[in-house]
Amino acid sequence: MKILVINAGSSSLKYQLIDMDKSEVMAKGLCERIGIGESKLNHTPNGCDKVVIEKDMKDHADAIKMVLDALTDANHGVISSMDEISAVGHRVVHGGEKFNKSAIIDSEVKAALEECIPLAPLHNPANIIGIEACEKAMPGVPQVGVFDTAFHQTMPKEAYMYGIPYDMYEKHKIRRYGFHGTSHKFVSQQAALMLNKPAEELKIITFHLGNGSSITAVDGGKSIDTSMGFTPLAGVVMGTRCGDIDPAIVKFIADAEDVDLKEVDNILNKKSGVDGISGVSSDFRDLEAAAKDGNEKAQLALDMFVYSVRKFLGQYIVAMGGVDAIVFTAGIGENTVMIRDMILKNTEFLGIEMDKAKNEKAIRGAQMDIATDASKVRVLVIPTNEELMIAKETQELLK
Ligand code: ADP
Repeated sequence: MKILVINAGSSSLKYQLIDMDKSEVMAKGLCERIGIGESKLNHTPNGCDKVVIEKDMKDHADAIKMVLDALTDANHGVISSMDEISAVGHRVVHGGEKFNKSAIIDSEVKAALEECIPLAPLHNPANIIGIEACEKAMPGVPQVGVFDTAFHQTMPKEAYMYGIPYDMYEKHKIRRYGFHGTSHKFVSQQAALMLNKPAEELKIITFHLGNGSSITAVDGGKSIDTSMGFTPLAGVVMGTRCGDIDPAIVKFIADAEDVDLKEVDNILNKKSGVDGISGVSSDFRDLEAAAKDGNEKAQLALDMFVYSVRKFLGQYIVAMGGVDAIVFTAGIGENTVMIRDMILKNTEFLGIEMDKAKNEKAIRGAQMDIATDASKVRVLVIPTNEELMIAKETQELLK
């Protein structure tokens, strides 16, 4: 069975065609600058060089058509006809409270997706446009929505409610939703496989540390708390996002800087985090290099990031009454020896013992247990694979 995975943004569209029988990516690519001129498609068949096709894409329907043409092209295609695609799995950012699992898209689901737009006004409309473009280009092929928020719908009410008037929840659905759910689910399931134990018997803390970072407590295979909140702005200090701050700071900045709320939102989302602190970069490679050269603000940004992550480690061990495994994933989690080392410093009293030599040997793309043999808590590095998870969920629903 071949499944096309689509991640549609407002002016971009990423795709992967996955052969589920072999768990193998047949081709992947990216459409850029859709609807804003000078658009192009980067298409990479497995094991071959990237092909760049420059052609105007006035909307997502054009983009999908180009993707299907590339996949079936005589030279750089990987399938002989579109009929080989059994289904399309779409990444959808926000499923609100309506979706606690993936769903086959029909008119009812589409109406529910529309209702979720106020919760993710930048992302959900693009996801819906992607779905509609596929429906048009591939009539009759099942379309499945896989939601970033769905895995976290198992959180208990005391974890997802905020201490604000209850009618704010009833009227506006203001609550913690959490994001990166597909990744947290994937790596926690992989961890159970690695440890050869049923997920139901494990307490796992998953650290998805990338451009955006979030941490989840997975108890018995279910998310019981997560660091991101109503939006992905909450939780740890991120690349350019502030993470948890005193909410009174919002009005204070607006008054003190004489800017409107939109600009404050922009500052907190795009000009804060390790980038805003260091003035160097949001990329941890740049920060590590600058800190090594003696840049104190770069060092401070790294220290703040690590400290904010460590606080969630403590919180979630208490929330679950223990921990069996810690998982590091995504760009930072999979790559930075130093950050993993800093996060788990002085945690031996919790039964967590990282093997420094194994930590240094962990290479991107490979799963590895980097705890000492004696460590009570396993420390795992697991590459995330959201596309494969979306394809698996899609396949599961078709059965
Ligand atoms: P996204 O969150 O956009 O999906 P990733 O999960 O790929 O992105 O994370 C990207 C981030 O990971 C980069 O901004 C960078 O900070 C970090 N990163 C990637 N590779 C390395 C590396 N070799 N060393 C340190 N940091 C890295």
